[in-house]
Amino acid sequence: MARKVLGYIELVWTCDSCGTKNPGAIRSCTSCGAPQPFGVKFERVDPDTFNFIKDEALIRMAQSGPDKHCPFCGTRNLADAQVCVQCGGDLTVGATSRPAGAVVEEPVVPQPQKPMPQPVAATASPAPAKPTPKWLPILGILLLILCVSFGVWYFSRAAQSESHEATVAQTYWLRQVQIEAYQVVREADWSDNIPAGANTYNCSMRHRYDSDSYRPESTEVCGEPYTIDTGTGIGEVVQDCVYRVYDEYCSYDTMQWVVIDTLSQEGYNTTASWPARNLANDQRIGNATETYIITFQSGGDEYTYRTKDYDLFQQAYEGSQWVIEVNGFGDITAIEPD
Ligand SMILES: [Zn+2]
Ligand SMILES: [Zn+2]
Repeated sequence: MARKVLGYIELVWTCDSCGTKNPGAIRSCTSCGAPQPFGVKFERVDPDTFNFIKDEALIRMAQSGPDKHCPFCGTRNLADAQVCVQCGGDLTVGATSRPAGAVVEEPVVPQPQKPMPQPVAATASPAPAKPTPKWLPILGILLLILCVSFGVWYFSRAAQSESHEATVAQTYWLRQVQIEAYQVVREADWSDNIPAGANTYNCSMRHRYDSDSYRPESTEVCGEPYTIDTGTGIGEVVQDCVYRVYDEYCSYDTMQWVVIDTLSQEGYNTTASWPARNLANDQRIGNATETYIITFQSGGDEYTYRTKDYDLFQQAYEGSQWVIEVNGFGDITAIEPD
């Protein structure tokens, strides 16, 4: 967001002692003479219109930075003053600058109308801010202990290993092949990303990004003006603006390899084969996958083992004897012909 300065306006402050509204740049109450308090709140004179200051000296004062308070008597002095206008004290050491930069009045943003929240109960009083409950850290520690003990249990089970004599009860294999074709594919992108020579169509100007500084092909969009306390009793009226940058976005045609089919072949023996394929001129073989599943029987229990190793699978004919390693979860971790 780029912040634009529209101009400067007079602010007012209210005297703590007598309630008189005084111009922001006047440093002691015009009615009772009380000094402007350090944490004074400035307000706009007229919240509906901006009456911009034309006096160059006042504008320079607003631009010179926040006022500072004399360390000896507390009187407000201009930012560039060396000695206090009130007591003559040295302002170069120990003077406190007024806080500046606070928004005097928030920008008016139209809010969608929300339904009023219904009171929960007639007797309910506004809930005070809740302190962190004392049991929360204890709960955290308990959860941590739970996680750690689960981890220990999990890894000990996984590391546990037992050898079993087993017989092959069933085998299953699945082989799959993707068929790809070189085809026209419709894509869309910003015109500077489209490959040279591509056939483009349906182009339109679209919002691409926002910029703080001016760009060609952009529209400036600004928020509502609002006022900032400059620390001098004069308000700076600003507006947050961005340049919405537009660019050409097009559809275009490109040639790509596209998966058009997946062929599968499966069987319940130990001799696997690839699915038959007849490729056209503009087609090729894509990814191929093979899965082999052996089901073992051991002491009345059934164990399944999944592998991509075809050489191993070919030895697992029905009824053959194997030694299988089983972990604490009942999963096979290794197999070997007996
Ligand atoms: Zn007063
Ligand atoms: Zn002083």
